[in-house]
Amino acid sequence: MLDTAVCVHCGLCLPSCPTYQETGMESASPRGRVVLLEAIARGEKPSKEGLRQLDECLDCRACEAVCPAHVPVGHRVDDFRRAHRNWISPSKGAKRVSRWLASPMGLRGFHWAVRQSQRPVLARLASRGLPLSLRRLSQGLPPNIPGPMSRITPRRQPSPGESPVGLFLGCVMDAVYAPTNAHTAELLEDTGALLSVPRSQRCCGALGFHSGDEAQAKRLAIANMEAFSEAETVVVNAAGCGAFLKEYESLFEGDLTWRARARDLASRVQDVHEYLSGHPLPPLEARPLKTSVVTIHDACHLAHAQGVRQPLRDLLQRAGYQVVEMMESDRCCGSAGTYNLSHPAMAERLKQRKVADVPAEVRGVATSNPGCMLQIQAGLKEAGRDLRVAHTVDWLWEAYHGSHA
Ligand code: SF4
Ligand code: SF4
Repeated sequence: MLDTAVCVHCGLCLPSCPTYQETGMESASPRGRVVLLEAIARGEKPSKEGLRQLDECLDCRACEAVCPAHVPVGHRVDDFRRAHRNWISPSKGAKRVSRWLASPMGLRGFHWAVRQSQRPVLARLASRGLPLSLRRLSQGLPPNIPGPMSRITPRRQPSPGESPVGLFLGCVMDAVYAPTNAHTAELLEDTGALLSVPRSQRCCGALGFHSGDEAQAKRLAIANMEAFSEAETVVVNAAGCGAFLKEYESLFEGDLTWRARARDLASRVQDVHEYLSGHPLPPLEARPLKTSVVTIHDACHLAHAQGVRQPLRDLLQRAGYQVVEMMESDRCCGSAGTYNLSHPAMAERLKQRKVADVPAEVRGVATSNPGCMLQIQAGLKEAGRDLRVAHTVDWLWEAYHGSHA
């Protein structure tokens, strides 16, 4: 991958950087962060304010997507933070959450805790002890999270020699949005895919990696490479997980065997919108949709990191939705993994801007990352706007299988 040294300081990245947009400060821009990283690389000691600006980068990759020199600013800032944990320490909350989600038992515990938080009495009691950022986020939880997490049984089991399409379930996605995983499975099978949902799959490891636990990320990556070794394609519906799976190779720099396997897995990973837009779905019945006018929030790790934008629009329009574009639909909503827990002030500003950008005429928001769904739904609720935020797949499922108006 290229380095920050190739930056020509043109400033083309500045307008797309959310923290620069918010503050107007050069030091909070991609170019400012590059200058700082270069100075540190030359041996200069960074100031407290400089470290704060590196810490406040969202790793949203908006700068990388527009940079003519392909400077990997987000990646390099993230590398720096992981390498200098003595200078910048991740929030304890973020670390705890990533450890929790890394094991199947922890994930079940997380799922149980999230469900309990929806019981009115417990919610009131628990909310007193929770930090404001978590209380705010819990406003975005979908109502009635189902008891069991995804237990998807494919319509047909692959026979020996057949290569199925593997479905990656994710951790937060499965604990909070299990119906979205079930809808994804149903739509994949509608296209004729022979589905496989390996039980041995794990969290992708992104949360642990970004909060400094590289060893945990590697363990999870290996588990996923084993789990999906038979799959012809691995379909992912969470933007953050998809981007991380596609970059597994960088976890195994000095390990030729696992590096090759990581490259092989990455070549088989497809975002669900990429997959569905390339495969025919069954004809639609001529029935009116419950909600027909929606807008799209492009998740950073789908639009910037994976370059997937148009398939969301094509799929929704093909399913009968009118898509009204929101301004800067690919500007980060402030969720950014666990950023809304570790940097609540900036996350709050970005959430409020995102909510203000949701066009008045729409009745729903389509997006593709569990963090964005929670964050935007919470923001809309706080703003008193009665709009549903759901995964693109959920909107599609409603058009193809739902009860309609
Ligand atoms: S990071 Fe890229 S876009 Fe930004 S100033 Fe450097 S070369 Fe220009
Ligand atoms: S990754 Fe995002 S927040 Fe960080 S410098 Fe780039 S555009 Fe700004």
